[in-house]
Amino acid sequence: MLKMTKMLIAFLLIVSVGGCGKKAKTPNEDNLNPTETPQSQETAQPTAEPEETPASNNDGNEGDIVMEVPDLTSLDSINLIVNKQRPLGEDYEPADLVKPDVPLAKSSVTMRQEAAEAMKIMFDAAKEDGISLMIGSGYRSYDYQKTLYNNYVARDGEEEANRYSAKPGQSEHQTGLAADLSGTSGNCYLKGCFKDTDEGVWLKENAWKYGFILRYPEGKEEITGYIFEPWHYRYFGTEEAQKIFESGLTVEEYYNLQD
Ligand SMILES: [Zn+2]
Repeated sequence: MLKMTKMLIAFLLIVSVGGCGKKAKTPNEDNLNPTETPQSQETAQPTAEPEETPASNNDGNEGDIVMEVPDLTSLDSINLIVNKQRPLGEDYEPADLVKPDVPLAKSSVTMRQEAAEAMKIMFDAAKEDGISLMIGSGYRSYDYQKTLYNNYVARDGEEEANRYSAKPGQSEHQTGLAADLSGTSGNCYLKGCFKDTDEGVWLKENAWKYGFILRYPEGKEEITGYIFEPWHYRYFGTEEAQKIFESGLTVEEYYNLQD
C-alpha cells in the first residue's frame, strides 16, 4: 500500500511538472552510478527513492558533531552532485527550468527555478554594491555539452580538453544549478583573469550568502577534476552554501566524496 501511494505521488509530481510546457523527465538514480551504463528514461523507475540521509544525533551527548548530509543523489535535489565520477544520463533534463530575470549573455539561458530566483536576489545585491553581473551560460543539455566537448577536443586534444571541459553527462551545467558568470561588459569571460575583476572579487566574497559556491577553486584540480574556474558558480541553497564556504573545502572534500 505504501509503495502504491509513493507511485501515485511520483506520478502526480510528474504530471504536475509536465504541465509547465516542459517534457517531464523521470528520475533515474542509476544514471548516477558510474559503474553502470546509463539507462534510457523509458526504463527508469519512478519510485526510486533517495538514500536515507543521516539523522541528527539526539542521544543528548553534547559536543558530538553530527553533519547532516543533504540529498546528494536524487535528480530533483538542489544538492545533487555531478562530477566525473557521478554522471547524469543522456536524457536527463530538469523539469523546472526557467529563464532567470537577470542580464543574460543570450536569451536562451535557463536554470532551475530555485537557482534562477537566487540569481536574481544575488544580482540585485551586487548592483547595490555597484557590481553589474551577467549569466553567460546556465543549463546545458547533454547534446549541447557533447558538441562543446567535441569542439574543445578537436582544438586542444582530449587530455587538455578534459582539464577544463566536462564530457557529456559529467557537466554540472546539465543539472540546471550551475552558471558561468561575468560582468555585463563580458570582460575576462571564461578566463582566469576574471578572478581579478570587480565582479570576480565580489562573487568570491559574497556568492555563498545567496546559496552559490565557487565550484572549482584554485589549486584543487586534483580533487575537483577541473582547473580553477573563477566564473563557475553552483547553487546549493543558502544554508548548505554557507557551511561549504566556511569549511574552506571543495564540495568533494566537504561531502567526503573522494575515493
Ligand atoms: Zn561552467
